Amino acid sequence: MLIKNLNHTISFSLFSLFPELVCVVSDRTLGDLNVGRLPIENAQTLLNLYQIPLSQFVGMEQKHGVIVRLVDEANIGKLVENTDGLITVNHQLFLGVKTADCVPLFFYDSIKKIVAVAHAGWQGTLGNITGNLIEKLEELGSDPQNVYVAIGPHIGGCCYEVTAERAKLFLEKFRDPKIAFQNEGKWFLDIGQANKTQLLESGVKLEHIDAPLTCTSCQNDLFISFRKDTKETFGEMLGIIGITN
Ligand SMILES: [Zn+2]
Repeated sequence: MLIKNLNHTISFSLFSLFPELVCVVSDRTLGDLNVGRLPIENAQTLLNLYQIPLSQFVGMEQKHGVIVRLVDEANIGKLVENTDGLITVNHQLFLGVKTADCVPLFFYDSIKKIVAVAHAGWQGTLGNITGNLIEKLEELGSDPQNVYVAIGPHIGGCCYEVTAERAKLFLEKFRDPKIAFQNEGKWFLDIGQANKTQLLESGVKLEHIDAPLTCTSCQNDLFISFRKDTKETFGEMLGIIGITN
């Protein structure tokens, strides 16, 4: 379930189980936090709310790919190149993911105390970045049964109209009318649902997935949407996850 916080962020009720965890996403009132196009210092707008210094932040230069990297103190205060997923076992680090319609995912292994983020647009979803990330966690000794995942605000199936060609790719891969479907002759995708399916296929428990119903386009007063916003109002929201002492 989505929790709207008073400090212009949203969080997930699933992670209320873990007081040691900070996992929030900026809402549109915090402005454009597209670190990469903007200097990385802009992440401070969100980090300051939780007294997190930039020297504990690691972001990604997101490429709509499926590459997941393990990061440590060598990466602090930087954007990791050519990456759409980050994992760390370092409890000093806060990992960042920026989105505006794509799906941000936040992972927590409550036993191994490992955190991770992923960015999944249609390409990353089709390439199964979520499954890649769970595999990497397993290589680090995680049991997927102990992994909790929040699926952040993204464009909903209600508004994500795509070409028949793109829909066909998803139909072939998922064979699920909840993920690729037609409405009044137009094709739509639910990429949040697709990532949820991939999490379940990777062994994550249904009750460990928080997938609140969101739509960055329908809820454009709260979120930023690549499709709904104009060039003047567009930006990216930043999500972070990390462990506090
Ligand atoms: Zn919508």
